[in-house]
Amino acid sequence: MQDAPTGLKTFQTYIDGKWVDSVSGKRLLTSDPYTGKPWAEIPECEAADVNNAVEAAYRAFDNGPWARMTQTARGRVLRKIADLIEKNANYLAEIEVRDNGKLISEMSAQLKYLPEWYYYYGGLADKIQGSVVPVDKPDHFTYILREPIGVCGMIIPWNSPLLLTGWKLAPALAAGCTAVIKPSEYTSASLLEFMRLVIEEADLPPGVVNVVTGYGQAAGEPLVTHPKVSKVAFTGGSLTGSRVASLAGQTFKKVSLELGGKSPNIVFDDCIMEDAVSGAISGIFAATGQTCIAGSRLLVQENIHDEFVEKLIDMAKTAKLGNPMSFETQVGPVTTPPQYEKILGYIDIAKGEGANCVLGGGPAGADMGGGKYFVQPTVFTGVDNKMRIAQEEVFGPVLSVIKFKDEDDAAAIANDVMYGLGSGVWTQSIKRATTMAQRIRAGTVWVNTYRAVSFTMPFGGYKSSGLGRENGQDAINEYLQTKSVWISNAPGGGNPFVMKTAADD
Ligand code: NDP
Repeated sequence: MQDAPTGLKTFQTYIDGKWVDSVSGKRLLTSDPYTGKPWAEIPECEAADVNNAVEAAYRAFDNGPWARMTQTARGRVLRKIADLIEKNANYLAEIEVRDNGKLISEMSAQLKYLPEWYYYYGGLADKIQGSVVPVDKPDHFTYILREPIGVCGMIIPWNSPLLLTGWKLAPALAAGCTAVIKPSEYTSASLLEFMRLVIEEADLPPGVVNVVTGYGQAAGEPLVTHPKVSKVAFTGGSLTGSRVASLAGQTFKKVSLELGGKSPNIVFDDCIMEDAVSGAISGIFAATGQTCIAGSRLLVQENIHDEFVEKLIDMAKTAKLGNPMSFETQVGPVTTPPQYEKILGYIDIAKGEGANCVLGGGPAGADMGGGKYFVQPTVFTGVDNKMRIAQEEVFGPVLSVIKFKDEDDAAAIANDVMYGLGSGVWTQSIKRATTMAQRIRAGTVWVNTYRAVSFTMPFGGYKSSGLGRENGQDAINEYLQTKSVWISNAPGGGNPFVMKTAADD
């Protein structure tokens, strides 16, 4: 990173172990969502850059030092990456806040936790093992190898760039794969600094990890369609995810998708009310609602609805908007201008649909502690689950409150969306908790908590929320493939099929 005469920071990207500009020399600007002003410029990569990166990753995978490294040695590299993230966590958190406007309190915690992914998968690297199979043929020795799948294309959104990279990169490296990462055009800086401070310092051989910065279509699509990419791991919106999966399917790549959500946060009348209120609030207003697991549908049992909503509004009103770099701030700006417009558009849609706006409902100007891309924490009551505000992902600080009667009703409403990513249940009854955990069709059910994630626990979606799982031991399978080896000691190779010759007739 250098200071340009314009006052902007200038980044290069990292391909084949070298810092390079884009082949075309083009650059794009990246802005600070708090000020709305550009602060850095990054290379605008296109198909030629993607090709260079994929070829480098392919060489590194096929026959480089990485390919020949033992699994134990690869594990050691992952642990070194973890140590280096730990060392640079504060700085990397600040760069993330600068680029995506999320709160420094949240990003600092996230960056301090991130090393655990690399420690965990570093530990798993030499526990990937095949098996010997008792095949049903005499005099054969048969075994199964579990091999790295190859070059992995990783497409990362703007909401938590380094965390969501880690969810893909750590298991991929542990499996022995190589990577080409395309961050969001809005938030590439932290990944480039991660490459400089972590990947370069960890002495990874050239080509093992590469970055192509640029626009989704111009840089993302060539990565998804490149014939030497064997696997695509994507996090982002469901529409883009669907396009990525169909493009990747044309060349039969393995695909994992972590997509959107419209997660139900379900409050029963036997909950601990204070806990449920704060869980509902942090479920939707944390990260300004810009998380795939935002608890954007709050289902409240009808006999406690009014009391609950009153307490919810009292607490939500106290949310402190402001500079995301301040540890005092509780709600920051929206990350991108299109996202800001999209959220305001949905607020208008909800009003038009007849939902009652009982809190917020518009932009938050400087008088409210906000600024250019701030939206007021917004709560709608009287929402019917059929409304668009209840069905479509807003990805902003907008909560829809929906009443329900009983467990059957709650389960029916919870499942009546195209998504199935997260869900919450607030109850003191173990019977109710386990029943609901079984009935909700979502990849994660939290009981009396919300938004908890861990490197040990599989994460992913049902229905239109995704395909495959990240985190936990399962995730390593996303980066492996299976090979069957047959060795025959049988006479004639044990092959029962004998070719007839002309002399036999
Ligand atoms: P996208 O899904 O479009 O972006 C996610 C990533 O995909 C970015 O790196 C993007 O690059 C890239 N991308 C975009 N188009 C293509 C393409 N054709 N081929 C390959 N890669 C592509 O998210 P948006 O930023 O447009 O946000 C839209 C909506 O998606 C949000 O409103 C939200 O609902 C949802 N979303 C969900 C996320 C989640 O965590 N599940 C994260 C982010 C968004 P670039 O940014 O350069 O366009």
